[in-house]
Amino acid sequence: MGESIGQYVRRRVRLTAAILAAGVVGMMYLVSHRTEPWASTAAVLVFGTMAIGLLWSGSVKCPRCGRRFSRNDFARFAWPFLTEPDSCPECGVSLDAPRQSAHQ
Ligand SMILES: [Zn+2]
Repeated sequence: MGESIGQYVRRRVRLTAAILAAGVVGMMYLVSHRTEPWASTAAVLVFGTMAIGLLWSGSVKCPRCGRRFSRNDFARFAWPFLTEPDSCPECGVSLDAPRQSAHQ
């Protein structure tokens, strides 16, 4: 697989954003159906999914130095009007480098 580090991080960020967006939509739906008998079970599921999404997004690390990508880094990947980082702020590995061989 020729995926670069940047592509990998970008994919994780987009997926996390999608999970959180789905969670927000789910919460709004639940609020309008909160008197239904299944609402409390569904709320636990929605919260669980969002929590897992957040934890998962916090586990993206630089493959070379192990530095965790901060929320600030994530924002730069997630928002088109911010400039994406092109290298790791810690060790300087290019995010265009292939992900597989970056830790050698
Ligand atoms: Zn690094």
